[in-house]
Amino acid sequence: MIEEIAPQLQRLSFGPVADGVNMYVIGDVLVDSGVSWSAAKLQLALAGRSVTGHAITHAHFDHQGASHFIAEALGIPVWCGEGDRAALESGDPTTVLPKPRGAAHRLARLLAGPAHPVSRALREGDEVGGFTVIESPGHTPGHIAFWRADDRALVLGDVLFNRNPVTLRRRLAEPFATFTWNPAVNRASARALAALGPELICFGHGAPLRDPDAFQRFVTGLPK
Ligand SMILES: [Zn+2]
Repeated sequence: MIEEIAPQLQRLSFGPVADGVNMYVIGDVLVDSGVSWSAAKLQLALAGRSVTGHAITHAHFDHQGASHFIAEALGIPVWCGEGDRAALESGDPTTVLPKPRGAAHRLARLLAGPAHPVSRALREGDEVGGFTVIESPGHTPGHIAFWRADDRALVLGDVLFNRNPVTLRRRLAEPFATFTWNPAVNRASARALAALGPELICFGHGAPLRDPDAFQRFVTGLPK
């Protein structure tokens, strides 16, 4: 499914659950690639389109699973935040996970997509597909978000969920603690993103949110 959310901002989601895992196309840049097992669907969805680069919000399997496949298929460079670069390039996602090692590490390693070289680390203020990169660490050390001031559109990866990808409950929530490198740092990133005043918020999990007040209320209510 491809949904036109705003000009030069499209959302891709391949089910089996609606909004379970989202990818985006901003300008001519693919943001995130979903899980490895939907790689063929992603390639089909992008057929005939001009996609010249691939940015990854963070190095978790549901965001980089098909990255190697699609970057090879389209011959495009891969970009991510510096703090997640080693995880993407080594194929070992455990470096961006919280300690202690345990079931989450085993699951993350099992489901991770193949390693792929990162052409360029994205930094705060870089321009990608008409959006500005915002460093938003916490869920992972190198997590990044994308902001377009013109229409106050924000693609925030997994800084917050708008649908729980396991229980499928539709509501704003913090990402799973077991997969979040530093929850306190992630909350600080959520507050910094809310301070931009976004009016259209796009998540890694869940439907886009066009209720800025609900977003602000949720972020204000996060523990300090
Ligand atoms: Zn995710």
